Amino acid sequence: MLPTPPAPASVYRGRFAPSPTGPLHLGSLVAAVGSYLDARTQGGEWLLRMEDVDTPRNVPGAADDILKTLAAFGFEWDGPVLYQSARFDAYVEALAQLKRSGKAYGCACSRKEIADSATRPAVDGGLAYPGLCRDGLPPGRAARAWRLRVNDDEIEFDDRVQVRIAQHLETDVGDFVLLRADGLFAYQLAVTVDDEFQRISQVVRGADLLASTPRQIWLQHCLGFATPAYAHLPVAANAAGEKLSKQTLARALAVDQAAAELVWALNFLGQPAPAELARARLAEVWAWALENWSFAAIPRCRAITVLPASNPS
Ligand code: GLU
Repeated sequence: MLPTPPAPASVYRGRFAPSPTGPLHLGSLVAAVGSYLDARTQGGEWLLRMEDVDTPRNVPGAADDILKTLAAFGFEWDGPVLYQSARFDAYVEALAQLKRSGKAYGCACSRKEIADSATRPAVDGGLAYPGLCRDGLPPGRAARAWRLRVNDDEIEFDDRVQVRIAQHLETDVGDFVLLRADGLFAYQLAVTVDDEFQRISQVVRGADLLASTPRQIWLQHCLGFATPAYAHLPVAANAAGEKLSKQTLARALAVDQAAAELVWALNFLGQPAPAELARARLAEVWAWALENWSFAAIPRCRAITVLPASNPS
C-alpha cells in the first residue's frame, strides 16, 4: 500500500484529453459526454487537453477538427486548451526530479534484448521489463531511454465505475519508460504531469486506460502529486471485441447529426434519453442530459459491443 497521497483540490476539475490522431468518433464521444456531464452536474470545471505528445501519430489538422467538432456538439470548456506539444520543459523537469531522486534510470536495452530475456507478459500487452539496466548500464553502452523504477507493493484504487483495481507493478509491468528511445516523452509521464498541472481532481475516461492507472498513481507518488479520483467508462467495441478507434476505422462523428450522436452516447452510458430527442435541438438534448444524468446508471463493465445498426447513419 502506498502512503496516503496529498488530497486533490476540493473543487471538481475534470478533463477530456483526446489524442489528435484523427477525427472524433463515437468511442471518443462517450468519454467526452461522460466526463462533461459528471463535471457539470457537480458544478465542476471541464478542461480540454490535446494529447499530441506522440508527434509521429498526430494527424495534421486533427486537433483543430476535434475542437470544432466539440464546439459544434455544444460542449463548453473552461480556460485555454492545453497542448502537450508545448509542455516539453515541464516533462524535462519532472524527469530531472526523478533522476535526482534515483527513481529514474537510463536503459540501453533494444526491443530484441528485452524480448530475449523477458519472462512475463505485461498487463496491457507487450512484455514486463526484466530489469536488465536496473543496476546500471552494461559497460560501454549508452542510455537510449529512461525508465521509472517500480516495486512490487500492491497499488490499488477504487474506481468509481469498475471494481477495485490492484496491480503489482514489478510483476505486472516492470520498470516503465518515461522518455522513449526516439526522444519523445511517454504518455504515462505526460498525462501525470498534466493532470497535476491542470489540478484535475476527477479523471473520467475509457476503460482501455484502466491498466495504465496504477502506473500513473505510482508516478504521482514519486513526484509528490495528488491522486485524482478515477472513473473508467465502458468502451464501445465492435463485434470482434476491438475498441472503436481510429485503428478499427470507426467513422468520424457526423456534426449534422449531433443530437442523434449525443443520444446514442447517452444511451450507451445507460441514460434513457428518449429517442425523439435525436431529432430535437442540441440545447434540448443537453438540457435533458444535465437534468437526468445518473452516474449510477453507467454499466459497470469494461466494454460493450455495439452493432453497426445501433449507430446513427
Ligand atoms: N489521450 C488519450 C486517448 O485519446 C486519453 C488519455 C486520458 O484520458 O488519460 O485515448
